[in-house]
Amino acid sequence: MQRITILGATGSIGASTLDVLARHPGKYQVYALTAHSRVDELAAQCRAFRPARAVVGTAEAAQRLSQLLADLPVSVEYGEQALCDVASSDATDTVMAAIVGGAGLAPTIAAARAGKKVLLANKEALVMSGQLFMDAVKEHKATLLPIDSEHNAIFQSLPESYGRKPLDSGVARILLTASGGPFLQRAVETLEDVTPEEACKHPNWVMGRKISVDSATMMNKGLEVIEAHWLFGAPAEMIEVVIHPQSVIHSMVSYVDGSVVAQLGNPDMRTPIAHALAFPERIESGVGQLDLTRMASLQFHRPDFQRFPCLALAFEALRDGGTAPALLNAANEVAVQAFLDRRIGFRDIDRVIGRVMDTLPHGAATSIEAVMEQDGRARQAAGEIVAAISGA
Ligand code: NDP
Ligand code: MG
Repeated sequence: MQRITILGATGSIGASTLDVLARHPGKYQVYALTAHSRVDELAAQCRAFRPARAVVGTAEAAQRLSQLLADLPVSVEYGEQALCDVASSDATDTVMAAIVGGAGLAPTIAAARAGKKVLLANKEALVMSGQLFMDAVKEHKATLLPIDSEHNAIFQSLPESYGRKPLDSGVARILLTASGGPFLQRAVETLEDVTPEEACKHPNWVMGRKISVDSATMMNKGLEVIEAHWLFGAPAEMIEVVIHPQSVIHSMVSYVDGSVVAQLGNPDMRTPIAHALAFPERIESGVGQLDLTRMASLQFHRPDFQRFPCLALAFEALRDGGTAPALLNAANEVAVQAFLDRRIGFRDIDRVIGRVMDTLPHGAATSIEAVMEQDGRARQAAGEIVAAISGA
């Protein structure tokens, strides 16, 4: 039995993970489930999957969850230390890191330091901590498997993904596909007026609200470029973003001999989740087989950096290195939340991030603590810029 902790169980990735696990009773055992504030949803998951431990964000949420689960033998806890505990406990083998944003960094690092099999959905954690995270994985012999569909596709398309740099294995380029999100065709001058509802309506994927907005600005692809850099040891020049609106090819690797290896599938996160859960074996995911005869056409083109300035900002942050990606990520989180709260417009998102990147010094990422400090500064600076824009 593989024992699993799911960080962010009530989210989109968390729910898809539980859906896959439910198809394989006897193979996986849920050790711990965590959420932040959606207590009722977590209680229902605990009834169905009977974890030993459940973690929420606050003492009040924990009290409510305890009442809801009074008849079950589940230990209810709250706060960041509890998240780190369930991610690093001897009683778990695998950790699905599916908290959204920087809040997932501490428990995800804790899982890596405890040498767990880490299934990484929480790209922000890796973007923030980069080399430090990869060093922790190596030092503590953790196994890191990408859940992000593009990185999972690249992983499946590389001959041997870790411990060997793509350059050494004849890789010419990593081709990171992007749907382009809901605003690929919309007139650029109307992007100022985009509403949160429009931004969250992704053409191909159903996801949490933050990543949906990131997909609309293409910051998601920017974060994924940085994620690919760290996961596969690929320099920025080797990573090419290719717009592919159908989201059937989930990414590709091209080799020096002219071969291009791709992973295809229906756009459903249960495929990469099942792949990583069972790796190196394969298990059924609940996702139907891809019917290629129903694909009218597959299109590919280059991204427009004018339309998607967030993508350019992310490439810049990767080239700057150090804490620049952490600043980028923190400013983005604050700006996206302000947009979702209708305090700033859609195009203000890239303006806030650009201003934070211009004003704050980009230091060296010497420790997780240093990264967290820069993260805090960037959040504060972004908050002030948001307040100035919104007149609050
Ligand atoms: P959701 O918003 O759907 O879920 C987020 C989860 O994190 C919820 O369980 C939420 O709890 C929990 N959470 C939120 N804030 C905190 C906090 N401060 N402390 C602890 N837990 C918190 O997000 P997604 O599932 O869409 O995304 C999760 C991660 O996976 C993100 O990093 C995203 O980029 C990545 N990802 C997602 C994909 C997708 O298809 N959804 C695809 C590829 C990557 P609660 O429910 O109580 O608020
Ligand atoms: Mg992705």
